[in-house]
Amino acid sequence: MDLLEILSWIAIVILSISYWFQIWKIHVHREVRDLSIMYNVLLAVGFTILGFTAWKEHSVIFLTKQIVTTVPVFIIIAQILYHRQDRWHNSNANYCPNCNEELERKWKHCAFCGQDTKK
Ligand SMILES: [Zn+2]
Repeated sequence: MDLLEILSWIAIVILSISYWFQIWKIHVHREVRDLSIMYNVLLAVGFTILGFTAWKEHSVIFLTKQIVTTVPVFIIIAQILYHRQDRWHNSNANYCPNCNEELERKWKHCAFCGQDTKK
């Protein structure tokens, strides 16, 4: 095994771990409103197609990379769907006088109804 091949296997592990950090963060925070489901769906589609390409080309390293990055992306999509109604709760936050949704400190207007937060 040459140096480039060793580095490539290390890169595969690093790439896979990067997705698992995202999965862990979602698992802990249960907050997905800042995550784009379309971004992850497009990743999953692209990775899956390239997985079949790797299969066709009999490339073990390429196929492994596709599998260990595609699986976590599908998990992230499932997490986004599962947690899409969940909101991170900050007990110090104020509530909108108009719609009663939780306001972030720096918001000048409510993101849910547009009410001026200073009123
Ligand atoms: Zn509001």
